[in-house]
Amino acid sequence: MNAITPPTPERVADLLAGGDNDYHDGNDWWPSISTTGNVVDIAITPVGEDYETKLPKVHFQAHVFQVTPAPPVAAEGVELAADIARELAYTSVGKAYEGWTVVEREDIDTTRWKSHHWLVIRNEQGQHYGANYSKGLTEYQDTRPWEGDTIACFEAVSRQTTVVQSHSWVTRTALINLHDWDELIFGGFYCTHCTPDDTDDPDDNVMWPCPSLRAAGVTDEEAIKLIAARRAAVTEKSRRDAQGEAGAR
Ligand SMILES: [Zn+2]
Repeated sequence: MNAITPPTPERVADLLAGGDNDYHDGNDWWPSISTTGNVVDIAITPVGEDYETKLPKVHFQAHVFQVTPAPPVAAEGVELAADIARELAYTSVGKAYEGWTVVEREDIDTTRWKSHHWLVIRNEQGQHYGANYSKGLTEYQDTRPWEGDTIACFEAVSRQTTVVQSHSWVTRTALINLHDWDELIFGGFYCTHCTPDDTDDPDDNVMWPCPSLRAAGVTDEEAIKLIAARRAAVTEKSRRDAQGEAGAR
């Protein structure tokens, strides 16, 4: 008999790849999967073999991004003439020089007299190479990248993608203003923020209050109040506009 299996991001990813809502690895989970835009919400309740012992529900999200294919990786590094490498060190990201495009320049560290950098360049075949270099912090010190060298050695590099979670704190009022509503022709309300801009498919409409507002505790009652307040403001504005026009006559 196995213990209840707690969900980990790796196991949840495995479940998604399994393509069904039934996950067994000796025990059972009760998953609940839904989507909002490109975000897949996954809630997992792990249950024991007796179907009664449960662990607390755990929430996960899968964010779906399109990825560009990984570029080819060269088998070996390259040696560039130091003056070409130096020019590349001063070239903006995205710009090319002598058949090499600067892909990234990262500031690694700054010591008393020098700054240290990581430079990634790409050849016309799409292979990427990286090298570290240092340069003097002032003109006075006159230490340019690869100063005194005749060649600069670049190593073959491979692109690694990482995804980071970052959080920001937004007032509830700002959230409500952001997730604005509009009326559908055949009745009902949709979120203008969550609904894709150029949609023709009514199924793409995200109904308002949308999941983000629901998560912020917006109830049906509050939603009705928000709609009433907006309608009252619109009526008031057109009344004033009409008065203004009448006054101008
Ligand atoms: Zn919304």
